[in-house]
Amino acid sequence: MDISKPHAALLSSPGMGHLIPVVELGKRLVTHHNFTVTIFAVTSPMSPAESHVIQSSMSPKLFDIVQLPQVDISGLVDANAAVVTQLAVMMREARPTIRSAISAWNPRPTVLIVDLFGTESLPIADELDMPKYVYVASNAWFLALTIHVPFLDKVVEGEYVDLIDPLRLPGCKSVRPEDVVDPMLDRTNQQYFEYVRMGSEIAVSDGVLLNTWADLQPTTVAALRDEDLLGRFIKSPVYPIGPLTRTVSNLKGDLFDWLDKQPKESVIYMSFGSGGTLSYEQTIEIAWGLEMSQQRFIWVVRPPTIGAADSAFFAAGNASGDDDLLNYLPDGFLTRTENVGLVVPMWAPQVEVLRHPSVGGFVSHCGWNSSLESITNGVAMIAWPLYAEQRMNATLLTEELGVAVRPKVLPSKKVVGRQEIEKMVRTIMEDKEGYAIRARVKEIKHSAEKALSMGGSSFNALSELANQVEVRMKRQKEKVEA
Ligand code: UDP
Repeated sequence: MDISKPHAALLSSPGMGHLIPVVELGKRLVTHHNFTVTIFAVTSPMSPAESHVIQSSMSPKLFDIVQLPQVDISGLVDANAAVVTQLAVMMREARPTIRSAISAWNPRPTVLIVDLFGTESLPIADELDMPKYVYVASNAWFLALTIHVPFLDKVVEGEYVDLIDPLRLPGCKSVRPEDVVDPMLDRTNQQYFEYVRMGSEIAVSDGVLLNTWADLQPTTVAALRDEDLLGRFIKSPVYPIGPLTRTVSNLKGDLFDWLDKQPKESVIYMSFGSGGTLSYEQTIEIAWGLEMSQQRFIWVVRPPTIGAADSAFFAAGNASGDDDLLNYLPDGFLTRTENVGLVVPMWAPQVEVLRHPSVGGFVSHCGWNSSLESITNGVAMIAWPLYAEQRMNATLLTEELGVAVRPKVLPSKKVVGRQEIEKMVRTIMEDKEGYAIRARVKEIKHSAEKALSMGGSSFNALSELANQVEVRMKRQKEKVEA
């Protein structure tokens, strides 16, 4: 290993939506910025999809991935605790292991980059005399709210969801009370305290990396950098370095054979991320809506749940037999739609599907990775937010960026009826409005490519961070030699 190069330790928390962007950041640092990278991944029990991401990022081998032992939190939090609480506690409990893994790694990493759930590990960097950064693998508006929430916590009385007026964020779009992130829904819940804590910890890092690009959110990025606006709440510089999305492999199989036979941009893909689940009632309405729309589709179906909308979070990619589907799809649905669509149980190779030329629309839960994967493949969306920061993402995608339509009711609260589903699918796939949205998403796709290419804003932002790390490394070396 070349010890003159900066060596980044990247810390990833459990969950596909967390691991994937960290792995992609690792690849980018190695291939474009001459870093050595070691990823320290706290993984969740039972996630075959996480293991798959880890394995597939090993060829070609660009870096080491150290899988830290799973943390048993059963004695510390209620099994029904919110996903945010469970993740926060797992990452807290993993700290001794994280510390010893990083300090024992030879040669010792020179910079620590943690994800949002890893901010409690930032003091490890201080102990080991490393610069410390946070990679918020989401967008600038989400960061704006997150760093502002410790302040809101002091000045806002009562529940945020009961407010009449939107929450004002200095210099950027306000957040409607019904759009606040899940941890802000109940101020007495542990996940709220964890979120407020993360908001203050981010703000004292040496810098924050964002999976967005300056041209996508110019006003919000400017407000984050302006000391009279949001910059008051975050002293650390902000680096929009995205969109970093998973690179694809060339997959074969029935799904792709079928896609190959469909006309260009004629298929709508529907999936609710790694954790999303729907109620039985909603699953039935979707099935009818799809059928009535008479459009070609690929639908990633999970068994319905009466629990939280993110209840598949810790079981992403678990297989389920086709037989189960018959228990919760309308009678005869699979036979009637045999030539029109495919139902995929549990998990699909999403990026490969979205990249396929036959795909023209995406019904998405608006997880930020999914949103970026849609945009970078020029696919228009139906925004169907369920949990986490997805309601904000849906608002951003529809109202600011114009790349999506969304249901009238919030799908995390009410059932969206079959007629509305049919109408939205038709709008995206065959209406004039849909064509305009498709044209817009393709423009944004080009702006993303520009940002990432050499000399583009995201390329330059990551170069700037790399330079800072190198300067600090040189200074430390001189200090040791003096
Ligand atoms: N994903 C996938 N197949 C699926 C569902 C999800 O490959 O059937 C991937 C998707 O491409 C994305 C990630 O899992 O990269 C989900 O991340 P996102 O931020 O969209 O949502 P989260 O799962 O964190 O809610």
